[in-house]
Amino acid sequence: MSTATPNPARPVVEHACQVLAVSPLSKDTYQIELETPAGSTLAYDAGQHLQLELDVNGDGQYQSLSYSIANSVNPDQPRRLQLIIQNGSDFAGKILNRLSDLNDNKANLKVALPMGRAYLQTDLGLPHLLVAAGSGIAKIKAITEEIVRQKPDAEVHIYWSNRQADEFYLLDAFQDWAAQHDNLHFTPILESANADWTGRSGFIYQVIQEDFDALEDVQAYLCGSPQMVYGTIDQLELKGLKEKNCYSDVFEYAPREQKARV
Ligand SMILES: Cc1cc2nc3c(=O)[nH]c(=O)nc-3n(C[C@H](O)[C@H](O)[C@H](O)COP(=O)(O)OP(=O)(O)OC[C@H]3O[C@@H](n4cnc5c(N)ncnc54)[C@H](O)[C@@H]3O)c2cc1C
Repeated sequence: MSTATPNPARPVVEHACQVLAVSPLSKDTYQIELETPAGSTLAYDAGQHLQLELDVNGDGQYQSLSYSIANSVNPDQPRRLQLIIQNGSDFAGKILNRLSDLNDNKANLKVALPMGRAYLQTDLGLPHLLVAAGSGIAKIKAITEEIVRQKPDAEVHIYWSNRQADEFYLLDAFQDWAAQHDNLHFTPILESANADWTGRSGFIYQVIQEDFDALEDVQAYLCGSPQMVYGTIDQLELKGLKEKNCYSDVFEYAPREQKARV
């Protein structure tokens, strides 16, 4: 596991944001556009997340909710934040309803950022593996934007897994990056094979294992459930991936026991 420390140059700041838009990306996933007030400055690293302070049930009880920031800092829209939220439960549905209410009423939303140590911090001269499951693509999108900005010829291998073929809502963006950058490779993966799907299928680690002989020098950013992240790392260690070269939010919010070494 990476032992990177938080960037001390970036203290956590609270902003009263406007919810500019809540738009469907697919049947179950929404893109949220936020904007900080005029005169404010946004400071975060690609791959960090933020916390929304939201009265989810409308009963005056505010909850802190973590979401990956889906865009890298955009000099053309320096106060803009993008989120990708999956409507995977009644709770997530209530969150999306509250955000829509705030958008309709032009009311402010309290947002704290930046959070998280698993931001882009590796030598872009080394090969990079970016792995996402479901809404984990939000963080991987921000990291990809930043890599392309800093080093357009960096070697990057992106894998994105979903359960449903209609959940690949960012396919065009990633396919365009792959078409424009010879060393950037993008592979969407459907978890179970399906007659309507002509792409790869299976567990993410299986597809990556098929594609690589050795992963010794690879720097990996992984985003998804703790089960997916730890399972993928364990399987890819068989191909030489080193956990010290891996970066993921799960190391902070769902740490596991140190593995026994033989
Ligand atoms: C650091 C962090 C970042 C999160 N970012 C997002 C996000 O960008 N979009 C989102 O819909 N939910 C994200 N979540 C989950 C979110 O905070 C709420 O738990 C969720 O919206 C509540 O819905 P649920 O009950 O269906 O969530 P749960 O059943 O708790 O499901 C959580 C979902 O969030 C996904 N997720 C977990 N960590 C991340 C991450 N770092 N980036 C992206 N997805 C993640 C999981 O793959 C899973 O699909 C994040 C959680 C954490 C701890």
